[in-house]
Amino acid sequence: MATRLPDSPKVGMVSLGCPKNLVDSERILTKLRSEGYRMSADYAGADVVLVNTCGFLDSAKEESLEAIGEAIAENGRVIVTGCMGKEAEAIRTRFPQVLAITGAHEYEQVVEAVHEAAPPIPSPFVDLVPEAGLKLTPRHYSYLKISEGCNHRCSFCIIPSLRGDLVSRRPDAILREAEKLVAAGTRELLVISQDTSAYGIDIRREPRMWKGREVVPHMTDLARELGQLGAWVRLHYVYPYPHVDQVIPLMAEGLILPYLDIPFQHAAPNVLKRMKRPANEAKVLERLKAWRAIAPDIAIRSTFVVGFPGETDADFEYLLDWLDEAQLDRVGAFRFEPVEGAAANDLDGAVPEAVKEERYARIMERTAAISAAKLQAKVGREIDVILDAVDDEGGATGRSMADAPEIDGEVFLRDVIGRELGDIIRVRVEDADEHDLYGAPVG
Ligand code: SF4
Repeated sequence: MATRLPDSPKVGMVSLGCPKNLVDSERILTKLRSEGYRMSADYAGADVVLVNTCGFLDSAKEESLEAIGEAIAENGRVIVTGCMGKEAEAIRTRFPQVLAITGAHEYEQVVEAVHEAAPPIPSPFVDLVPEAGLKLTPRHYSYLKISEGCNHRCSFCIIPSLRGDLVSRRPDAILREAEKLVAAGTRELLVISQDTSAYGIDIRREPRMWKGREVVPHMTDLARELGQLGAWVRLHYVYPYPHVDQVIPLMAEGLILPYLDIPFQHAAPNVLKRMKRPANEAKVLERLKAWRAIAPDIAIRSTFVVGFPGETDADFEYLLDWLDEAQLDRVGAFRFEPVEGAAANDLDGAVPEAVKEERYARIMERTAAISAAKLQAKVGREIDVILDAVDDEGGATGRSMADAPEIDGEVFLRDVIGRELGDIIRVRVEDADEHDLYGAPVG
C-alpha cells in the first residue's frame, strides 16, 4: 500500500514596526519554510499565528496589542515575538491565552514555540532538511533555500505535484539573505533546493545587480558570490549536469567547501531509466575522477534506493561495483517504498521485502567499509573543524569540511578550551571509525 503524506501545518504572520523587524520576520519564515511549513495569507487558514511586535513608541505598543487581540479573536492560537516581548507580563495580563512570548531576534525560541504549537511533520519523501535537522538549527549554520519545486518527473517522487515546477529566487535576494545570516552569526551556509544545478533556468538567467555588479542566476555564479561572504558554503542536491564541472575550481580556490551532495539514487542504467532520473547519461565515474584531480579533498555524498521495481540481482550487483569504483565519501540508502501519487507505483517487477532488506544490508556494509578506509586515511592529517557542541571539560563535537550537519559524520575532540560554537579550529586527526573522526586541536 502506498504511503500517504499528511499536510504540513500553516503559519500566519503579522509583522509590525521597522525594517529590522521585517528582516526578523523574513528570517523566521525562511526557517519555517525550509522545514516544510506552509504560509497562510489569512487568520482562518493558519494553524498558528505569529505576531512580530514593535514596542518603540506607546502608539506602536498599542498597535501591537491590537494586532495580538485581533489574531486571538480571529484564530486563537497566537505566538508573540519582537520588541514587545520585553513586556511579557503586560501582554499576559491582557491576553492570557497567548501560547508563547519571545523577545526581538530570538529566532530559535520563536521557531521552537511554533514547533510546539503546530509540530512539523517531517517526511523523508519531500523534506530538504533532514528530520534530525528539524530540531533548532544553531545560529552558526543556516539553510539557504535558492529555489522551490522541480522540473523533473522522477517516477518515485511526488514533489513536482506537491510543490510545482522550478521557481528560482532572484540571486540578489538570496545573497542579501545570506549576508544577513552571516552578519547574525552564521558560519556555514547550506545551499538547498530540489535541484540546485537547475537554479536560474526558469528566470532565464536574467542578471541582477548585487554590490554594483551583475550576478547571473546560475549555480556557479551564485556559489562564487556566496563564497565571498566569509562563511563555509556547502552545496546540496546537485545533479551531475555537465556545468557542475565549473564549481569544482571554486572548491580548489577555497571559495566553497570541497563537498557535493549528489543524490544519484542508483547506477544501473536500467533502473535509472525506470526512475526517470535527470542527468543520468553523464559519464559519472570519469567525471568524479576529473573532479578529484582538481579538488583532491572533495567529499561526495549521495543517497541510493534499493529494491526499486524492476531492480534485478544484476542491477544491484552493478550498483555495488559502481560504488567500489566511485569511492563516495558518504552514502545513505533507502529501501524503495511506494508513496501515494508516485508514478513508480504502477511499475511492474515489485521487489520482495526480504530481498530489499538483504540488498539494504549489503549496500550499507559495502559503503561503510569504503567510508572507514577513507576516514582512516585522514589519521595524522590536520583539518579544519567547525564546532557544534562544546562542554565544560574540554570535550567538543564538530564537523570537518566533508561533513554536513545531521547527515554526515562528526569529529569528536578533546582539550578544546576557550572555544565557542561555530568556531573553526585546526585539528590533528588521531583516530577514525566507520563514520567519525577523533582528534585534538593543533598547537
Ligand atoms: S529531481 Fe526528481 S527526485 Fe528530485 S525533486 Fe525533482 S522529481 Fe523529485
